[in-house]
Amino acid sequence: MTPIEETYLYCPRCGTKHEDPGKVPFRCAACQMTLFFGPVAAVGGLIVNPSNQLLLVRRARDPGKGQWGLPGGFVDRGETVKQALKREVYEETKLRLETLDLFLTYPNHYNYHGVVSHVIDLFYICRPVDPDCIKLEPTELDAFVWTEPDQTHLENMAFASNRHAIECWMESVA
Ligand SMILES: [Zn+2]
Repeated sequence: MTPIEETYLYCPRCGTKHEDPGKVPFRCAACQMTLFFGPVAAVGGLIVNPSNQLLLVRRARDPGKGQWGLPGGFVDRGETVKQALKREVYEETKLRLETLDLFLTYPNHYNYHGVVSHVIDLFYICRPVDPDCIKLEPTELDAFVWTEPDQTHLENMAFASNRHAIECWMESVA
C-alpha cells in the first residue's frame, strides 16, 4: 500500500523531478504548483426502519468484497452532501430517503489498487420512504439485512469507520 502523496515523483504540470516525494502538500520547487491530496468527502447512511433495525449491505466487489457496509459513496463535484447520500442510496438500493440527520464524521482511508487516499466520512441517520422496496444494484452489492448489528456483523465490516459509526449509533439508541 502506497500513500497517494508518495506516487507523485514528478510535477504533473512541468515534469520536474520531485526532490522529496511523500510530503503533504506536494509543492513543485520549479513552478510552485501545489497539490493538497484531499481528504475527499464520502457519505454513509445509517438507514433505520420503523422497527429501529439498521440496514447493512454486503459488498460484491473490492475494497471489502464479501464484507458488510453502510450504503454510501463519494460526494461528486457540484452536489451537496445530502444530494450525494440520496443519490448513492438510490443507486445502490433503490430506497428513497425522507429524513437525513448528520450523526457523526470520521476520518477514513480508501485503498484503490494499492494507492491509499484520505477520506472524510459523513454519517447520517436516515429514514426511508418505504423500507420494503429495496432492490440491490448487483454489480455493487449481493445481500442486505435489517438488523440490530451483533459482534459477527461488526467484526466483518469493510471499513473501520463504518463499524465506528454503527457502534456509536447503537450506544445512542441503547
Ligand atoms: Zn512544476
